[in-house]
Amino acid sequence: MLFPVLAGTAAAAGIGVSIYAAYRPESQIYGATIVAGPNPSQVALTYDDGPNPDATPQLLDVLARHEVRATFFMVGSFVKAQPELARRVAAAGHLIGNHTLTHPNLAITSSPETRRQLAETNNILEQTLGQKIRFFRPPFGVRRPATLRIARELDLVPVQWNVAAQDWNPATPQQLLDRLERGIAKNRQKNQASNLLLHDGGPLGLGAKRMPTVEATALLLERNIRNLTFVTPEIWA
Ligand SMILES: [Zn+2]
Repeated sequence: MLFPVLAGTAAAAGIGVSIYAAYRPESQIYGATIVAGPNPSQVALTYDDGPNPDATPQLLDVLARHEVRATFFMVGSFVKAQPELARRVAAAGHLIGNHTLTHPNLAITSSPETRRQLAETNNILEQTLGQKIRFFRPPFGVRRPATLRIARELDLVPVQWNVAAQDWNPATPQQLLDRLERGIAKNRQKNQASNLLLHDGGPLGLGAKRMPTVEATALLLERNIRNLTFVTPEIWA
């Protein structure tokens, strides 16, 4: 009975590695992704799942007040529904990336469908904004080797994160701020920059309630605009 036990353990370990490689945002096992660079005073604010008429305009006001450039990974179907808002984000000078057409879990999406999700969103963004899209963030940070190969074939550089505000769960702005500042402090101890995952929208549709995220952003900038340098992940590419 020894062999099946060992085989079972090895299989379990293999599954563990696969899950780590597919789901852990910072893993490089399935291919290189941008996480963050070595300068601990650099922080990237990144917002996924927009554009969202219920939070993106307010967020743009906060970022403009502090003259900070952020990154928005947009959902293609939402850009199609809100082209003016997407153009407003671009006109404010922020970096815009591809976050797929309908926000699927790409670990279980076929290769042809993955290609369609990325290529159609590139087309929508490029037609709406008149600019080439270079960066991509997989929904939930989840990918498999084919996901990264398809992204590469479309000239898209995958971007992950190393601090999550976890703003997909209900939280107060102060709770979100605490998570962000704790994450930044932890990365500083490791001499690493911080790439913050936030959300100005939600994957289920337009109108997600993201004002706590907008308010947490305002607090973070008010408290740290002098001691941190706000960047976009381009700087780490
Ligand atoms: Zn997302």
